[in-house]
Amino acid sequence: NILSDQISAGEVIERPASVVKELVENSIDAGSSRIDVEITEAGLKQIKITDNGSGIAPDQVQLAFKRFATSKINNQADLFKIHSLGFRGEALPSIAAISDITMKTSDGEHEGSEIHIHGGKLVQQGPAEIRRGTTVEVNELFFNTPNRLKYLKSTATELSKITDIVNRLALSHPEVALSLQHNGRELLRTSGRNNMQQVIAGIYGNPSMKKMISVENENSKFKLTGYTSLPELTRASRKYISVIINGRFVKDYALNHSIIDGYGSKLMVGRYPVSVISVEMDPSLIDVNVHPTKQEVRLLDSRELSDFISKSIYASLSQRNL
Ligand code: ADP
Ligand code: MG
Repeated sequence: NILSDQISAGEVIERPASVVKELVENSIDAGSSRIDVEITEAGLKQIKITDNGSGIAPDQVQLAFKRFATSKINNQADLFKIHSLGFRGEALPSIAAISDITMKTSDGEHEGSEIHIHGGKLVQQGPAEIRRGTTVEVNELFFNTPNRLKYLKSTATELSKITDIVNRLALSHPEVALSLQHNGRELLRTSGRNNMQQVIAGIYGNPSMKKMISVENENSKFKLTGYTSLPELTRASRKYISVIINGRFVKDYALNHSIIDGYGSKLMVGRYPVSVISVEMDPSLIDVNVHPTKQEVRLLDSRELSDFISKSIYASLSQRNL
């Protein structure tokens, strides 16, 4: 029902950037190789996402907007083997409850469908052209939750949160061609050629990329790839440190810190490296169902992974006699 969808929206959708995150994750889950994000007025006017993924069958479209109905989790055991980014079946209904949303979707073979929902109420549903992929347009975000609107920061801040999210998604999925436009101006475009270096250069700039070295290491449990900056390239903030586990950007203090630890005494106090570290590991050792936004995860071998990351960073720097 609309009220419980609105309540759940409060947990999942804090700000325009949350909408962008959920929709792009859905596009990634749908196997898209290209995703275009177009934002107007930091997302308060419009958020439009176009992908070339699997689409949704006409008889499934309404279901996709029902809470938990599409949840990919059938039992407790499933929770520990999550491969997809989404799994709670909460995002679309939550967004639909607090905005005006239109989705056009087709698998590219059968007639597509279009659905329009306003504040959780179905306005219209009908056929659409056959064009593989999904376009979602979110207008009037938070129109019926004025309290949410009040808590939003300036347009500049909301936009920077959107850029952060899209950058992280691009870093986590270099195999997807991702673009971001704000008020018609292009802020990011990745090639989708699975080239992490290119993506980092696109986000942090070529001069920074030139000051980064590759980190690669593998043991029986973890496979680690990524780039980390030479001690000469540091920032006054930790926000340039990204840890990605199985294609999911994670917020984890200990893991971020393990990267800093790898530098030993090579960093000055208050300075942090620029670092993108991607880990592949057995998904059954991770619990991502800790928080609705799924950025916090619980690792069964957290300590072991931290040590592995520190050692890998240290080894890569040592190879350069650093
Ligand atoms: P979840 O991602 O947790 O399953 P969502 O509410 O985000 O839940 O999405 C509901 C369902 O709608 C998804 O499980 C998926 O089947 C479908 N869906 C949403 N967005 C897309 C998309 N861009 N392409 C294909 N299917 C989609
Ligand atoms: Mg989802």
